[in-house]
Amino acid sequence: MTEVLKNYIGGKPIDVEVAEQSEVPDPATGEILGLVPMSGVEDVDRAVKAAHEAFEEWREEPVTRRARRFFKLQVLMEEHLDELAELATRENGKHVEEAAAETRRGIEVIELAASMTSVMKGETLDQVSRGVDVALHREPLGVVTAITPFNFPVMIPLWFAPLAIATGNTFILKPSPRTPLSANRLAELFSEAGFPDGVFNVVHGGRETVEALIDHPLVRAVSSVGNAATAHNIYKRTAERGKRVQALGGAKNHIVVMPDADLDLAANGVFSSAFSNGGQRCLAGSVGVAVGQIGDGLIEKLANIARRSQVGPGLDREMDSDIGLTPVTTAQAKERITGYIARGQEEGARLVVDGRENYEDGEGFFLGPTIFDNVTPEMELAKDEIFGPVLAIERMGDLDDAIRTINESRYGNAAAIFTTDGRAARKFRREVQCGMIGVNISVPAPVAYFPFTGWKDSFFGDLHATGRDGVEFYTERKVVIERWQ
Ligand code: NAD
Repeated sequence: MTEVLKNYIGGKPIDVEVAEQSEVPDPATGEILGLVPMSGVEDVDRAVKAAHEAFEEWREEPVTRRARRFFKLQVLMEEHLDELAELATRENGKHVEEAAAETRRGIEVIELAASMTSVMKGETLDQVSRGVDVALHREPLGVVTAITPFNFPVMIPLWFAPLAIATGNTFILKPSPRTPLSANRLAELFSEAGFPDGVFNVVHGGRETVEALIDHPLVRAVSSVGNAATAHNIYKRTAERGKRVQALGGAKNHIVVMPDADLDLAANGVFSSAFSNGGQRCLAGSVGVAVGQIGDGLIEKLANIARRSQVGPGLDREMDSDIGLTPVTTAQAKERITGYIARGQEEGARLVVDGRENYEDGEGFFLGPTIFDNVTPEMELAKDEIFGPVLAIERMGDLDDAIRTINESRYGNAAAIFTTDGRAARKFRREVQCGMIGVNISVPAPVAYFPFTGWKDSFFGDLHATGRDGVEFYTERKVVIERWQ
């Protein structure tokens, strides 16, 4: 019988008594890995109460000792890296090396949390007036929650949990119902690392579960990652209740290839950015902008890489993860993506490589790389977040046109430029309205010590995830003005 997943509350797996469940298919085989319960208001209340109870003790735990547990967690994560990567691959479909890489990025946040004794320090100023000193302290908020998407089942929960917990809060994760298995495994590892019961909790479910979390009076702050509509809904609902919120949204990232670019570097960069993890990354460069005469050469190289690329299951360690394509996460996603390909042809873009062809995928949700040329900015292919292995190439006369196109997008997550001209790179960095910029780097992902800085519809809020922003988000500041006579 297919296993029904449990919530993880107060250090224990807990059954959820609900009628509604959703299936978790293995994207490579279609096999059902588990059933996710859609937790209701009472399940959420149980988790919040457990987290609130744990908070009373956890906030009193010295920061040195809170931080020290993250050293233990870091070691455990390294020890279980292969196991975690395989689990993420089974539920998400991505290549196992990609899953290992995301786990390592998550570990970096754990390392930042281990340095909380430095990064959480306050500020003081002596003698602002005669005999008067001022000090700024940082205090935890209480119970906080994070709502996470399917595409990085290990890394994205770890963008939030370590910083929330190291600053003294207690935490509830509501993972994507598509990838709930990694979340429960993370909860077990937090317990094994010695975090007290109730400090890290997992509640499974969907929209209603999220709404119950946002509405619960004891939940103080909400972090979320999802598409733009989800981000906006969560931002609005949380802000209306006067709570702190950071809501990361969708993306449509452009990669500009200048006429002077190193063409091999650029083509390899564009290909892996567009197609790794089946194109299901918020930093995926899904629009290539070829400036000047470089378009024909770029298309030729991309088509050559596509011919060499393999399509296969993420657990195939023989497959070259840089150019291999793993399945998309659901049958519905595959249908949505093939719909975009069909409409792209109808809109008049030139289909250079068709990812729908020549792949016998059995029960899995496989698609090869699709490359369109002569895409224009008003086409769906250029505007919508397709979130699949579809690359649109636009041709532009000069860098100004390329920058204008990028800035007209509703999204502002990331943009990259391939060039050997420092002036072009500088102009691009200064004029592009996106929060993450790559120069000769096609996936400009900030390391944990910096914030993940989406703009426009890619982010709603002000303090971003990770880096110093993450610490500020999870702490309330208190300024104390003292006079001792
Ligand atoms: P999604 O928006 O469908 O779901 C994300 C999470 O929100 C899930 O836990 C889901 O259960 C919950 N949710 C869904 N609809 C909701 C609603 N109306 N109200 C409240 N909660 C809701 O996203 P997904 O398909 O799991 O993930 C892919 C999306 O996430 C893409 O748009 C991608 O760009 C985005 N993403 C963004 C970033 C970033 O850093 N900006 C990172 C990763 C993924």
